[in-house]
Amino acid sequence: MKLEAVLNNVSCQLKEVGIENSRHEARLILSHILGLSKEKIFLEKSLKVSKKDLEDVSRVTEMRCARKPLSKIKNVKEFWSLDFFVNEDVLDPRPDSEILIEAVTGRINDKNQNISVLELGVGSGCLVVTLLHLFENAKAVATDISLNACQVARKNAKMHGVSDRLEVCQMSWGSSLDGKFDVIISNPPYISLNDKNALQPEVHYDPSIALYGGDDGLDCYRSLAPDIRRLLSCDGFAVLEIGDDQEKDVEGIFAQEGLKVLEIKKDLSLKNRCLIVQLKE
Ligand code: GLN
Repeated sequence: MKLEAVLNNVSCQLKEVGIENSRHEARLILSHILGLSKEKIFLEKSLKVSKKDLEDVSRVTEMRCARKPLSKIKNVKEFWSLDFFVNEDVLDPRPDSEILIEAVTGRINDKNQNISVLELGVGSGCLVVTLLHLFENAKAVATDISLNACQVARKNAKMHGVSDRLEVCQMSWGSSLDGKFDVIISNPPYISLNDKNALQPEVHYDPSIALYGGDDGLDCYRSLAPDIRRLLSCDGFAVLEIGDDQEKDVEGIFAQEGLKVLEIKKDLSLKNRCLIVQLKE
């Protein structure tokens, strides 16, 4: 069977189950299975696809039709132009979370500074590993309550050559830590349980523990606030991802713990997505 025909076929199947940009997604599937660049998939329309590759294409298409994201099928997701290993134990890195990295680079101009970083709820490690990649003299500690997520974060640190500067510890937020950090970063689970049914089907392939923050989605901020208060250095700052319309509530929770919001940053859809906080004087 020729590539063009396979592409049409896959694209139709994806479209039938309501997947948007089905042709683009079909190209991504073929590019993954055939090991060809997306450009090549465009150009090599009459390339003959082998029986073995056809079988693999149909296996992956079936998984994608069941709304498993391609990242979780390939076990790779790009974040900040770096490839991260992902599996069912970690939240897929989202493009919107890149704003958290920008929040840090926007406040620390000198990339050679030897800052200490703490990530609470590390998941795949995309945030802390990207920061260590950008700040070559930085050192970091990262925690996650999930042992499996800790292992994924360590794997990604190794892949990007920063594991000698990262310690990953299994614990709830910062519960067993002491010391002070210049930068604390976190993308905690903040989706309200009431919104569970409104999520894109693909999101259900992320671990629930990384998505839901209790009835109002704010449980994690209540737990994080005292840890941030205790572990943030007096001239440091913390960067947190927040859910839709949570900025006022989170600001209130933090204010009670002696933390003040310095800045709110918007995501790619211009929603308030990131709070930068520091200790009150
Ligand atoms: N931003 C993710 C989503 O809406 C949720 C991630 C999180 O809860 N931190 O799918």
